[in-house]
Amino acid sequence: MEITKLSGVGVKRAEALAAAGINTVADLLNHFPRDYDDRSNVKTIAELTPDAVNTLRGVVAYEPENASLRLIITKAVVKDHTGTLELVWFNQPYLKKYFKKGGEYIFTGKVRALSYGGADAGPRLQMQSPDYEPSGNGVELSGGRIVPIYTPPKQFSQKTFRALIHQALQLAGTGTFSGETSAFFEFIPSGIREKFSLCGREIAVRNIHFPGCMGEQFRASGTTSPGDDALFLAARRRLVFEELFFMQLTLASMKTAVAARPGLLLANTDYMPFLQSLPFAPTKAQIRVLGEIVADISGGNQMNRLIQGDVGSGKTAVAMAASYLAVKNGYQSAMMAPTDVLANQLYAGFKKIFTPLGFEPVLLTGSLSAKTRRDTLTKITDGRAPIIIGTHALIQAGVNYNNLGLCITDEQHRFGVNQRLSLTRKGNTPHTLVMTATPIPRTLGLILYGDLDISVIDELPPDRQEIKTYCVDSRYRERVHGFIRKETEQGQQVYIICPAISAAVSDGMNTGDMHEETHTQSGSKAEMQNVLNYTQELSAALPGIRIAFLHGRMKPAEKEQIMGSFKSGEIQVLVSTTVIEVGVHVENATLMVIENAERFGLSQLHQLRGRVGRSGLQSYCVMLSDIKNEQTQARMKAMAQTTDGFKLAELDLEQRGSGDFFGTRQHGLPAFTIANLYRDMEILKEAQEAVLKLHEFSLTSEESDAIRRRTEEVSANIFQMREIGVSL
Ligand code: ADP
Ligand code: MG
Repeated sequence: MEITKLSGVGVKRAEALAAAGINTVADLLNHFPRDYDDRSNVKTIAELTPDAVNTLRGVVAYEPENASLRLIITKAVVKDHTGTLELVWFNQPYLKKYFKKGGEYIFTGKVRALSYGGADAGPRLQMQSPDYEPSGNGVELSGGRIVPIYTPPKQFSQKTFRALIHQALQLAGTGTFSGETSAFFEFIPSGIREKFSLCGREIAVRNIHFPGCMGEQFRASGTTSPGDDALFLAARRRLVFEELFFMQLTLASMKTAVAARPGLLLANTDYMPFLQSLPFAPTKAQIRVLGEIVADISGGNQMNRLIQGDVGSGKTAVAMAASYLAVKNGYQSAMMAPTDVLANQLYAGFKKIFTPLGFEPVLLTGSLSAKTRRDTLTKITDGRAPIIIGTHALIQAGVNYNNLGLCITDEQHRFGVNQRLSLTRKGNTPHTLVMTATPIPRTLGLILYGDLDISVIDELPPDRQEIKTYCVDSRYRERVHGFIRKETEQGQQVYIICPAISAAVSDGMNTGDMHEETHTQSGSKAEMQNVLNYTQELSAALPGIRIAFLHGRMKPAEKEQIMGSFKSGEIQVLVSTTVIEVGVHVENATLMVIENAERFGLSQLHQLRGRVGRSGLQSYCVMLSDIKNEQTQARMKAMAQTTDGFKLAELDLEQRGSGDFFGTRQHGLPAFTIANLYRDMEILKEAQEAVLKLHEFSLTSEESDAIRRRTEEVSANIFQMREIGVSL
């Protein structure tokens, strides 16, 4: 149903809603709250708790006043049967007219005890900048209940958006708002709902927006409190199940569709000339995976394969071998990496191997000069570039390939499913290879890589020594300096990781929300080391050692230059943020120092540590942290005990407090509207079971149609995949 049918939604608001993907009343109701604020405990003035947020119902005693100081202060006095209270707002002069003397309102805001209260009267209380709403005329949405908090579209306040949802809920299911396009339409068949104890969609949608407050008819019998947990949980469970169910159905359908799709036949599968040009003999695992790739690309169907292999297991060589076969068969190969630094490094590696073989790779990143970019694009389009290495630049509009036969994404966990698909869409059913070092449990793998076949490189090159790992606190910093001196004197190189760029800035590329999360969850209060100050201090402490820094806010050319100097050995110690986390390869680096180790999750620590130990040399990792809480200690211990990425990933998952494992940054998980894999693992398993056993539910044709339609919708919305041909 069209959104403009709602009162208060004109052309402008409809546009703002559309920009947030809300075109219909059903879309609006599928925009779930991101959080809730329990304001169901309404107090009297006498009961108010100072220095806390309180909800209060009261009558405005006098006409409010505006006072103009440096800002305009609106004051209102509110009374109830227990007393009076002063309320203030800043720079909202229109409120003076909004509140009517004698009118009853509900307020929620912080109550402060003002120090200059009369000596005998105790401290005078004042409520500051409260949220407000007329009371006593039926519906209260912002107080006296559990209040939903949304991420409202631009131009909407919480309050207007909340009111709009409320209006839509009242209309939904009635008159023109019912039927198939209603938000209440049921696309989970009753058989599945029964089996997994899922409530109906109408109850779910109503209760997810206004838990426990949507009227008696939807309240389960025997429940009393407005914060009706059971009903809210049932609503949430149903919607989470639904989201995960359709997500997986979409991925499964994509896989079936791809498997049935004819692929380019790469008949020439002789990779010996390539292997002979490598400076090492491939491991058994590399050869096995290469065999799986060969079977795919010469079998007539499109390859869609994930290569999972721990850091340093030699995934690049396998990617090169596949590229070799693509170009040998006359097709182009494109490989996408998540950072400039990594793309440059891959490019250099490919050039070394492929130039002598007669194939000249090109590099495409966002930081090329206009002329180089133009030339490169021409070569890509006219086919003179057989091998293309780059960043996200590879999937931008305006990049047209001549005959793309193979797409590779490196460090797939740093990309979304969509970005991977975007690269594939640049060709005509090209073969696809994605690589990741992040081992993930099977259940999650189905969500991330449900449409892919999986190969595992479960063996490191033979000459590798275990990285010795130590966990210390800052009392050992002197000794760490000594260690740095010793390694550099022996001609080795050192990485130092700090979580922030400067005292004021964390590294937007890699810290951001995820670290905030880790930070609060570990309750750490330790000062954050930052790259700029650290470099200065270390240079002072270790004169004569060549130290430089690197972070995500530097210009790509600068980064490249620094990485180049580090690779050549000119720089001995590199102080960096986690920009060097993925893929970076400098064999001569043998010591990794991680400052504020408490701020990183296990998977990330493992990635960081993987920057050393990339040759036959003994390497070391020193993690510094002054945080002694249990979780941090457990992480440190795990890191010291094992270098097995799979084990660490499992531990990471067990330590559910970390919040890191499911950071979408680390894994490229699709953005869910309500599901939270960290919390909803059990529901995920049930949804998986439902998808796998769908045929056992003997669906009617209406039920299958509904599922099919919804799956098409999900795949169009989330993956921009149309007509994937959902097979049930
Ligand atoms: P990752 O799997 O983390 O991407 P890389 O592909 O960067 O690992 O490989 C790490 C290092 O190991 C590189 O220097 C690479 O040349 C080397 N390497 C790869 N395979 C072998 C092998 N079979 N024997 C010896 N060294 C190898
Ligand atoms: Mg790699």
